Amino acid sequence: MTPDEIRAQVDEIMARVYANGTVTREEAEFVVRAVGRWCKGPKKPGVEAEYAKMREAVGVVGGQEKGYDLALMDSILREPCGADFNDVIVQFPFDGADHLEPCPKCDQMISFRSPIFPVSE
Ligand SMILES: [Zn+2]
Repeated sequence: MTPDEIRAQVDEIMARVYANGTVTREEAEFVVRAVGRWCKGPKKPGVEAEYAKMREAVGVVGGQEKGYDLALMDSILREPCGADFNDVIVQFPFDGADHLEPCPKCDQMISFRSPIFPVSE
């Protein structure tokens, strides 16, 4: 599928969600996987304090508005992993529940909130 085709398919599925319709489990997973979520990897040993300090300085958003580059920070302070974290997200019901799960590749704990979809089984 081309990016345009993926976007069109996501729009079609989401239009049904917004219209209070239902989607299949496969359609919900398709929407989840349309956004890449790669594990950033564990922080390198010894950088926790430095990372926490920088993370605090960046603030809650991406940091660009304050002149920080979060992606660059991560590339310096973390061991690269790159596992597809969507594989973990789709193992759970799409019910909005909070989770703290280990990355299947590097065991880094990742917190996320399950997306909510009205799935018709
Ligand atoms: Zn990982």
